[in-house]
Amino acid sequence: MMLTMVQPKIVIVGAGPSGAACALSLAKRGGAEVIVLDKSSYPRVKVCGSGLSPHALELLDRLELRARFADRCVHMPRLLARGPEGHEVQLAGREGAWVVPRVEFDNALITEAVRHGASFREETKVTALLRDADGTVRGVTTEHGDLEADLVICANGSPSRFSIDTHPTQGIRTLMGWWTGVALRRDEGVMIWDRRLAGYYLWAFPEPGNVFNIGLTIPEHAAEATHLKPLFEALLDEHFGAALAGAELRGKWMGHPATVTTRIGDIAEGRAMWIGEAARLVSPGSVEGISFAMESGVIAADVIAKHFDRDLGLTLPQRAFYRARIVARMLPKFWAGEAFARLMRSDRARELSAKMLDPQWFASKASRLVGSEPAPPA
Ligand SMILES: Cc1cc2nc3c(=O)[nH]c(=O)nc-3n(C[C@H](O)[C@H](O)[C@H](O)COP(=O)(O)OP(=O)(O)OC[C@H]3O[C@@H](n4cnc5c(N)ncnc54)[C@H](O)[C@@H]3O)c2cc1C
Repeated sequence: MMLTMVQPKIVIVGAGPSGAACALSLAKRGGAEVIVLDKSSYPRVKVCGSGLSPHALELLDRLELRARFADRCVHMPRLLARGPEGHEVQLAGREGAWVVPRVEFDNALITEAVRHGASFREETKVTALLRDADGTVRGVTTEHGDLEADLVICANGSPSRFSIDTHPTQGIRTLMGWWTGVALRRDEGVMIWDRRLAGYYLWAFPEPGNVFNIGLTIPEHAAEATHLKPLFEALLDEHFGAALAGAELRGKWMGHPATVTTRIGDIAEGRAMWIGEAARLVSPGSVEGISFAMESGVIAADVIAKHFDRDLGLTLPQRAFYRARIVARMLPKFWAGEAFARLMRSDRARELSAKMLDPQWFASKASRLVGSEPAPPA
């Protein structure tokens, strides 16, 4: 008699970079039925600077996907960083960053996961995790009915409504828009740590098609966060007035909350895992989240492939192992990001930096944050 092994059924909630990278990694390995659900219809616009750091590019290499974006990105080898005291430095990485609009990036990732065998159900909003009487996750409730699963992966971004992490969140508010005809260099991103943004920044990144995305990030509890639109208008006028003089706004300004962190809380149960921004894996200071989203998806897939048992779920040591891998890979970077944000909003540190040090000091701090180096003279 031939025994047939029943494959575990894994439901992933959210097809952003975390959910898609996880689905792709799982599908490539085989051995599980992978179903991705997203409330949106793809391709969908995502409020994001769409900047792919060198770390994100490394992840694309691991997923064997970088080449796919090579002629669909804007290469951004240089970054102009302006500090709260007006210090201005140019940073350049060994390879720099890429900008691939999220509408295209996310769609390409999930399409690749489907090509490798994952199934994708769009316009399927998950409204709750389905739990047994003893609290064990048994699937999800969607607007179209319940879906049972052996394991649920929450990759639903911010705000993560299914999170089991009870610690207070560190929320960042954002507002951004897309413009054509902006008079800025197209091989350079701009980040401006204006003091009104309380340690955070205004950015301008070039996108393909002669487009720039420009936006702001600010801690949700900052004094200026209560009136974002007038603040954005004032900042645009002050920092990009000349560059935007002949530009045309495409569509409306859009905002989306981001959740950053300096600690990793509960991110796994016996039959559920949290990845990406649903697990708050976004760096304070830079608000970089795409790389950590993909990396956590890959790590989760690796833990599942090696350790997940359909009958037992994830044991306590396996959950601790997953969390430990995330902590080791990400927490030092998050702490560095938080230290930078604190420095940028601290009057005393800013005064010191203005008096004692010089733009080189700001260059060294900012370059650590964005993974670049001060640029050689042009
Ligand atoms: C304004 C802004 C600018 C940013 N700029 C950058 C940048 O330049 N570079 C960078 O690295 N990071 C940036 N980030 C952070 C980055 O966008 C996120 O960290 C990243 O998208 C997280 O990926 P994710 O897959 O975890 O979640 P998401 O990309 O948010 O994807 C979650 C998905 O889940 C779906 N979903 C949500 N709820 C449900 C539900 N109930 N049922 C079904 N589906 C659901 C959503 O439709 C979405 O497709 C920025 C963030 C913001 C807000």
